[in-house]
Amino acid sequence: MKSIRLREGKERSLQRRHPWVFEGSVAKGRADPGETVRVEAHDGRFLAWGAYSPASAIRVRAWSFVESERIDTAFFARRLQCAVALRARLAVDSDAVRLVHGEADGLPGLVVDRYGDTLVAQFGFVGTERWKDTIADALLAATSLQRLYERSDLGVRKLEGLPEQRGWLRGDGDTRLTLREHGWQLQVDVASGHKTGAYLDQRDNRLHFAQAVRHFGCDQVLNCYSYTGGFTLAAMAGGARRVTSVDSSAPALALARHHVQINRFDADRHEAVDADVNAHLRQQLEQGRQFDAIVLDPPKFAASVAQVERAARAYKDINRLALKLLRPGGLLFTFSCSGGIGPELFHKIVAGAAIDACVDAAIVRHLHAAPDHPSTLFFPDGEYLKGLALLRAG
Ligand code: SAH
Repeated sequence: MKSIRLREGKERSLQRRHPWVFEGSVAKGRADPGETVRVEAHDGRFLAWGAYSPASAIRVRAWSFVESERIDTAFFARRLQCAVALRARLAVDSDAVRLVHGEADGLPGLVVDRYGDTLVAQFGFVGTERWKDTIADALLAATSLQRLYERSDLGVRKLEGLPEQRGWLRGDGDTRLTLREHGWQLQVDVASGHKTGAYLDQRDNRLHFAQAVRHFGCDQVLNCYSYTGGFTLAAMAGGARRVTSVDSSAPALALARHHVQINRFDADRHEAVDADVNAHLRQQLEQGRQFDAIVLDPPKFAASVAQVERAARAYKDINRLALKLLRPGGLLFTFSCSGGIGPELFHKIVAGAAIDACVDAAIVRHLHAAPDHPSTLFFPDGEYLKGLALLRAG
């Protein structure tokens, strides 16, 4: 077994069970991509078992902090069974569930979603890549399913020296599936949809939105960055009279239209607009439009810490425009999924937007990823999705 020795003082993060070792913390030692290593403090004390990644700035990701634990087939079987058992306890109201959420489930770099009878996995770094077959078999065993599709078409794999990959790992067949969420039907293609096919992290927020639209009696709803219309269905289920979905992806909008139809909502109540959201918001303001409820669910504006400042300006801008477009008393669901923008900073950005828009608003709910995307005590970096439900002052 190879050892990686850390510099003096660099053991604290692992002792606090944060699973990453950055390259600057390593004093000596090296191993092959994905090889299991013993990470030790400057004086040789055991800290963790982890997977070595020679090409990445995150040089080691920890599998276990228990010295007697072996990283073998049984280890992955145990971790996966645990992750699956947690989701069973959460009793998620959907047949699409996140079963493994990377570091939060003690399996760094691994994401697994279940869509009905189909599993979809992302292997994000050389550690999970090396154990791919073991993980695939253990996943089928833990879920009693037979189909596993790989969606490792991830930009981050480049940082690991790995190529992008997608295709069936186990089983085969049609990649287009129909799911049920809160009683709504959604079509997903696990081979081509965003992420593993859909944004499962917003599941609970779509339900909160449907309930809020009904509760506050919102008539005119604007769903920005709609993708395939998840929040559009929520608005319609909540009784909105007219819903506009805005996205810059024509195929996503076509599916949003289809979703309105198959869920038996009146297609005349829905409009799909292929546009840049920022430009569309400005145009709506110029036309003097107003809405009773608006959703802002943009893509990740900050992919890294270096982009946080620019991203903050972009978030502020769309929030300012949306707040101006809200009728007094109107409802805004606003999100950021940038890991580099924490909940406090996001709050500050939206507050700044409200000042610029000259409006006041009350926070009626803090929004998070659904609980099958857990964040943990030891890995706060995993808490990427945050949002605010606001009511504009009347
Ligand atoms: N709310 C959705 C997920 C949104 S994902 C859901 O619940 O399923 C973000 C979406 O923003 C993607 O569909 C992407 O096509 C779209 N997008 C990215 N940049 C955009 C832009 N500048 N203008 C409009 N849409 C954009």
